[in-house]
This record gives sequence, structure tokens and C-alpha cells, in this order.
Amino acid sequence: MSEQRIVVVTGASRGIGRAIAVEMAGPKTHVIINYNSSPEAAEQTAVLAASRGGTSAAMQFSVSDPDAVKASFKQILKEHGRIDVLVNNAGIARDNLLAFMSPAEWDEVINTNLKGTFLCSQAVIKSMIKQRYGRIVNVTSVVGVIGNAGQCNYSAAKAGIIGLTRSLAREIVSRKITVNAVAPGFIDTEMTMAIPQKSRDALLAQIPAARYGAPEEVAAAVAFLASDAAGYITGQVLHVNGGMCMG
Ligand code: NAP
Repeated sequence: MSEQRIVVVTGASRGIGRAIAVEMAGPKTHVIINYNSSPEAAEQTAVLAASRGGTSAAMQFSVSDPDAVKASFKQILKEHGRIDVLVNNAGIARDNLLAFMSPAEWDEVINTNLKGTFLCSQAVIKSMIKQRYGRIVNVTSVVGVIGNAGQCNYSAAKAGIIGLTRSLAREIVSRKITVNAVAPGFIDTEMTMAIPQKSRDALLAQIPAARYGAPEEVAAAVAFLASDAAGYITGQVLHVNGGMCMG
């Protein structure tokens, strides 16, 4: 059994997930850095996290694979005895106008972003209930609230994460487990670098802060919701978007 705080961050090989893993790292903390297909990048995250003190380890599994998720969380619980914090961050985009969207583009995004959040949450929930402590933070998106042309699959998944967050929060609030979401606006990562420059310029014009956000700014919000100081906050969506959406 471990005396450390055990933190699992999904999709932490780069971008926002990496910033979250590094922010959450520190003395008396063990951070598990999940990735799907980028082992070297995940190892780099592990090195960055360990440089803040504490320990870390990279772990491969696809959040959309029910058997892999079950087996991986079972292994974590066997090794460490508990999971204190789960950050459901792994996500993908497969953008297309709805008129042209293939069922595969729909399924891939729903399975990774929404079903992945369900599977990982389910895999930790019984142990959190037993230990009467837990923090789950789900990474949704501003487009889950306001929508975005070309992202019906992505915005549906992210809106679904908000519903899941609020329902699960109600199910387990009496067990001292909180479930919250962080909704980033447009953040400088590989995901947004894939957007054509013309669309990036148009998006920038919608941001009152007149700049993209940094992954570290999202990580700070996640770390707060995962902290003991946030014990009376549950079922909430914390927007980190430079004023783009104030709903
Ligand atoms: P990113 O740079 O593309 O990184 C995505 C991460 O997810 C990678 O670590 C990737 O790992 C992992 N991943 C993808 N599919 C996975 C799977 N099936 N199982 C496990 N891990 C998987 O994206 P990002 O911009 O950092 O986004 C992180 C989260 O923030 C996502 O949920 C995204 O929807 C959300 N978000 C981003 C923005 C933004 O502006 N960037 C805005 C709002 C919300 P591998 O490389 O190993 O596959």
C-alpha cells in the first residue's frame, strides 16, 4: 500500500494532459501518465513530472477499449492500493460538416472522448467509494456548450461529458467524492495546430482576451478542482477560455 497521493491522467503524452500531469506532480505524489500511441512523448512527460519531486510512470492503454481500461486500472489498484485523482483528459477530433461526416468519424470521437470518460470513471469509482475519497476532473470544451460548425461529433461528446459529470457528481457526493469538469476554450496544442490558419484567425477574433490559452492555464484549473481545497465544489464546469463564453 502506498502513502503517496495516486493520480491518473489520461492522454498525458502531450498538450493539455502533459501540463496537467506536470502540474499535479510533486513530493508524496505518484502520477500515472496514460497514453495511447506515443510512448516516447509519454516518457518525456514522466521525466518532466518526476523533476517536480515524487514519482511517475507512463502507462499505455486506449481509453476507448473496455478490456484494456479494466485491466489497467486493476493493475494500478493492485500496485498502489488506491487512486485519489482521475483526470479524464484523453480526446481526439475528427472534424467534418455533418452532411459529410462518416459513421466512423462519429464513433471514433464519441468512443474516445465520451465513452472513454465513462469507462475510466467506472474503473475507479468503486475503490473511491470504499476509501470515501476521490476527485474526478473531466476535460470538456467550450464547444460542448456553444457548439462549433464542423464539430457535431466532438461537441456532442463534450456536451455528453458535462451531463455525465453532473449525474455522477449527484450519485457520489455523499461519499466525499467530487466530480467536476474543466472547459478549455482554444488552447495552443497539436490539436489546435491542425486547424487551418484562416480558421485560427477567425477563432482568435472571438476571444476577448485576444490570445489562445496555454496548456498550463488549463492545468491550474484542473489542479484546483483536484485539491482538498475544492472539497465543497462538485458537478461544476469551470471555463478556461479568455472570456469566449461566460455561460
Ligand atoms: P492533443 O495535443 O491532441 O493530445 C491528445 C492526447 O490524448 C494525447 O496524449 C493522446 O495520446 C491522447 N489520446 C488520444 N486518443 C487516446 C486514447 N484512445 N486513449 C488514450 N489516450 C488517447 O490534444 P489537447 O489539445 O492536449 O487536448 C486534450 C484534451 O483537451 C482533449 O480532451 C481535448 O478535447 C480537450 N480540449 C482541447 C482544446 C484545445 O484547444 N486544445 C480545447 C478544448 C478542449 P497518444 O498521442 O499517445 O495517442
